[in-house]
Formats: sequence, structure tokens, C-alpha cells
Amino acid sequence: MNKIITRFPPSPTGSLHIGNIRTLLFNYLFTRKNGGEIVMRFEDTDQERSSKDNEKIALDALAALGLDFDKGPFRQSERTDKYIDALNILIEKDTAYIAEESEGEEGSNVIRFRNPNKEITFTDLIRGEITIDTTDFGDFVIARSAKSPLYHLTVVVDDLEMGVTHVIRGEDHITSTPRQILLINALDGLLPTYAHLPLIIGNDKKKLGKRHGAVTYQEFEDLGYIPAGIINYLALLGWNPGDGDEREFFTKEELISEFSLERVNNSPATFSYEKFDSINKHHLMLLENEEYETYVKKFLKNHPEGQKIITHPSFSLLVTSVLRERIHKFAEVVTMLENGEFNWLTKTPAYDANELLWKETPSEIITSHLQHIQTTLENVSGWSPEALKAVIWPYAEDKGKGEVLWPMRFSLTGEKKSPDPFTVAAILGKEETLVRLQTAVDKLK
Ligand code: GLU
Repeated sequence: MNKIITRFPPSPTGSLHIGNIRTLLFNYLFTRKNGGEIVMRFEDTDQERSSKDNEKIALDALAALGLDFDKGPFRQSERTDKYIDALNILIEKDTAYIAEESEGEEGSNVIRFRNPNKEITFTDLIRGEITIDTTDFGDFVIARSAKSPLYHLTVVVDDLEMGVTHVIRGEDHITSTPRQILLINALDGLLPTYAHLPLIIGNDKKKLGKRHGAVTYQEFEDLGYIPAGIINYLALLGWNPGDGDEREFFTKEELISEFSLERVNNSPATFSYEKFDSINKHHLMLLENEEYETYVKKFLKNHPEGQKIITHPSFSLLVTSVLRERIHKFAEVVTMLENGEFNWLTKTPAYDANELLWKETPSEIITSHLQHIQTTLENVSGWSPEALKAVIWPYAEDKGKGEVLWPMRFSLTGEKKSPDPFTVAAILGKEETLVRLQTAVDKLK
């Protein structure tokens, strides 16, 4: 079998969209699995809407995701000569002609393809045999002028010249295919194999767009989704490992070995932010502590209150005992901060004595529980959530969990909601914990 050659051909007219990345990912998985080669090119024939900034955004995203390619990046705007050569060949063979009209620009004649108006049939690896009558396309325009070729021509010339064997792209390009096949035939080229990937839709069944939420790589990165989570989730948008195979967590390496185009569906793939979150969380849990902390720092460092958290001596413990359990994507740590969920750590609690009370339990009893906790914690050996729980829990079970643990937790946090009292005390440290317990005892006097 000939070597498989695929392509990454984004148009740098906007920030790389999640749909583009899913397409690139499927090309990547298919090519890497089969030992092929990937050619990267920017389809920037629309010079007004294309920008170098968008190219950089795309390349940075690919690098971050680890979607490497083998050749390029090429730029169509730098390959105009090749398209002009092809135009000339087509004109010479009379399969294209300069039209005596101008489209848009005053005085410039466009070049049209002489459509043989026939039915084109091709086999799509995902959708099976497809037949499209090209008559409706008419003599379609392939260049705005002798010097400015348009999409169908540039794609065909590039795919032929770069030896592309498999064109794997979004379903929205399915009507491009018959036009491109006509052009390939006219240029005596070899047809590639086509695979059109299903559309990605929102839960309202409409094509995924801004109104559904984040859609560009950058937006997802800013929300704190990580490359491993993004790759895993996007792979599931249209692909699954097998009938009855319920697995949903995959590393990139596992995807490369399991992926096949035969297992891509032809029905639209629904994008679920909820599912994305749960998959991302799985990959966050796999991060080493150090890397996890680096992400948290990155998200909190620009907040004055965030600084207090990331420089706190128990920052690492906060990460392992509180954040790891909670966070699906790192921006949630900022939301927690803004919701005051770390106030217990960054501020001295302010509250009224009666808030320490539990139901009908008299205040003297609450005081005696707090004093018992004080003495116990003064003498405890080891200062970790587990060590603290081990010495307090039996007492709480004996006296009543509510009346022991509520005042303990409330005296340490001054908040109705917070992590459990053992975790809170472990994070606050021995000294601060004992100070806060004493304050509570004093308030109850
Ligand atoms: N540049 C096109 C796009 O970004 C890709 C076209 C193709 O894959 O043939 O949609």
C-alpha cells in the first residue's frame, strides 16, 4: 500500500474552532496509526480575512495539543504560481474559460470551470456511496482573476501536488467534493479517498456555535481545560471504540492505537459541556501534583486574594485535599475564590457567638466540646486531615456529630459551607486552628 498522506488545512480567518480541531485530530489519529504523513497548510486565499495572528494561534494550539505534522506549514498565498499554472492548463484544454463578465470587482474577468454537468459518484469512508448531480453548480468560478485563484482550485492543486491520499474533513464540505473531483479529473490527477466527518451540534440540534458557549481552542484553554482532556473529549465527537464498549477515558496514545475511520458515525455528534467537564476532570486527576499546582497558580496569580492562597504554607494540601476533588476545569478555582469559598483561609472569621450553637444544645456543652477539641489538638501527633480525624471522630460519634463537628467547623471558618473541619484545620495549621478555637470559646463566655 502507498504511504498515507493527509492534511491539516485551516483557513486563518478566525481563531481555531473546536470543529477544526476535531477534524485535525481525526486526521492525526488516522495518520499516526497508519504510519503516514501529515501536511500542514494555511488556506489563506481570502487575504482580507486571513491574518498571521490567526496562524500563530492555530500553530500554538496544535503545539499545545501535541498534534504534530510532518511537512509545512505552507501558505496558499505563497503558492500562487502553481495555481496559475493549473489555470493555464485548464484554459488551454478548454475545460476552463475567462468569463466575459465581472463578479464584484469592476472590470476584472473571472475564470469559470466548464462544467460537464454530470453526476459524480464517490465512496466516502464514513457515509458510503454518494452521488451528486453537478448540474446545479453551473460553470462555477475557480479564480477571481488570472492571478487570484479560489478555494476549489487551490485545494485540488495542493492535494495533488502534496500527494494527499486521504481527504478527511467536515461534512460541510461534502458539496465541495464533486466540484473538486471534476477539477482533479480535468487535471488528470488521482482521486484521493474521502471521509466526511459528522457535524458537531449543540443540545438544541443546531450547529455548534458561540451561543452554545465556548467554541475556540483559546476559550477552552482560558477555562482551564487541558490538552489531554480536550483530545479525549473531541475524539468522542463522532467516534467510539466499539459496539458495547463503554470506555470513555483515553490518552492520545490509546486513541492512536484504537482509532479507525470505520468506527466514525455518520450522524451528528452532540457537544455536551457536562461530559467534556467530566472527561477533563479525569485527566486533571492524572496530573502530577506539581503540574496541577502550576495550573492553579496560573489561574489565581492575578487576583490579590489569589496571591494569599498560592503563597499560603498549606497551598499544596489545599490542592490535594480540596481542589482535586472539586475542580473539572481550572477556571472553577477562580469562581470559588470569587464566591468567597476560600474566605476561611484568607480572612479571620467574623461571626456571632450564637452561630456556633447546634440546634437545642446548650452553650455550655458546646463550649466543653470546643475545649475538648482544643486539648486534643494541642497534644495530637501529626497534623494532617487523617490524623486530626482519627482523634476527634470517636469523640464526635460518642457525643453527637452535629454538636461536636458543627461548632468545630464553624469556629474555624465562620461559614455555613466549607470543607470538613479536619481538612480545614489541617490547612490552617496548628497555631491558627488553636487561636480560632480559643476565639470561639471566648465568644461563648
Ligand atoms: N480550509 C478549509 C476549512 O478550514 C478546509 C477545506 C478542506 O479540508 O478541504 O474549512
